[in-house]
Amino acid sequence: MKYRAILLFGAPGAGKGTQGKILGQIPNFVHFSCGDAFRNLRVDSPLGRVFVEYASDGRLVPDEPTIELWKRSIEGLTATGRFNPEADTLLLDGIPRNPRQAEIMRDLIDVKAIFNLFCPVLDKLVVRLQRRALKENRLDDANIETIRSRLETYKRETRAVLECFPDTLIHQIDSTQEPMFVLLDILKVIAQIPKPAVSDGGTVYLPTTTPR
Ligand code: ADP
Repeated sequence: MKYRAILLFGAPGAGKGTQGKILGQIPNFVHFSCGDAFRNLRVDSPLGRVFVEYASDGRLVPDEPTIELWKRSIEGLTATGRFNPEADTLLLDGIPRNPRQAEIMRDLIDVKAIFNLFCPVLDKLVVRLQRRALKENRLDDANIETIRSRLETYKRETRAVLECFPDTLIHQIDSTQEPMFVLLDILKVIAQIPKPAVSDGGTVYLPTTTPR
């Protein structure tokens, strides 16, 4: 069985994480950030060490351990009841991140939509990333060289992921808008996606008083 998935796509700083966190609050949607999964590893674990080595100069972690981490994380979310593959949709943020990862994941995910959070001026992203470095203590946002290198990695390896999927799935979203308007554009599309055959219908809130 393939996992139902929506891909949040875009350059570093485009706002995938911001939108993923909000959308992940909607019943039946589960946000998975690959960067967060790496950051949650202990830095003295074998994969934690690999992550620090690659991320600190803006490179992608090798594909096999990345996909393994993703699989294990989703299995963990399933085992603990936070993700129900029958009824829920994964919001994938930061994975797949190159055409090879897209190829490996082809048999594992059923992609319902891809949101390309585009930014016509990459320099705007640099400013956002520098602001985030101060707020979130991120080693890879901390210096301008690393930021430039991550944007280069995006242009060289990640952008081509869009070519692995049919155009009909790809929705262009202007990421320079305020977050609320980015969200609005995404929600307009998500609301049109047919629900899975099996759905728990989300949370049911019973009224405390009888409506009149
Ligand atoms: P951003 O969205 O700002 O680029 P992320 O938090 O998504 O930041 O990723 C931080 C770092 O984690 C990346 O620069 C990379 O080293 C590593 N990483 C995250 N996702 C992947 C992935 N799918 N494949 C390989 N490396 C990844």
